[in-house]
Amino acid sequence: MRQGKIIVIAAPSGCGKSTIIQALLKEGDLDLAFAVSATTRPPRPGETEGVSYYFMSTEDFREAIADGAFIEYEEVYPGRFYGTPRSEIERVTGEGHNIVLDIDVNGARGVKELYGPRALTIFIEPPSIDELRRRLESRGTESAEVIDERVDRAAYELSQAGHFDARIVNDELETAIRQTHALIDGFTSL
Ligand code: 5GP
Repeated sequence: MRQGKIIVIAAPSGCGKSTIIQALLKEGDLDLAFAVSATTRPPRPGETEGVSYYFMSTEDFREAIADGAFIEYEEVYPGRFYGTPRSEIERVTGEGHNIVLDIDVNGARGVKELYGPRALTIFIEPPSIDELRRRLESRGTESAEVIDERVDRAAYELSQAGHFDARIVNDELETAIRQTHALIDGFTSL
């Protein structure tokens, strides 16, 4: 059986990345599974263990690193680690299904280096940094301090967009979903 492909989607926080990924998973025609990451950050309201993330203590996370359990991991925010479990990627792609990873820009580069032509990296960008700040504020789930941290981080992530296979500007959500769908459809049909 042919192995599934790896789709990596990165974007600054607040660019609609999760919404786009959820829409594609729901449409169901791309034979896509979501790669659940591990993290040391606490759950947000509404997040479920094993669905949104595997929530772990820092100690357990370090142990998993030492065991080689992640294909990549990053300290995305100070003291907050995120990693992609190797077992999940291997199981899903080994069964011939495609998998989508929602990870940060550095992790995306790592996955591309590891999987080369089996992976497609897509960068979703906001129309502007000002628009991004407005979206994060209207989401209302983060404190002002966290929003500042995320806007700073976004400026760094935008500077890395050139390393991706494809870029999509999320100005109008439906259009961005259609464009992302078309990219993945083309890549997974190759
Ligand atoms: P959040 O805390 O908002 O869920 O995620 C923060 C950032 O961490 C997002 O850019 C998200 O894509 C990224 N992230 C989530 N899981 C992983 C992972 O397994 N590896 C890496 N490198 N980044 C991740």
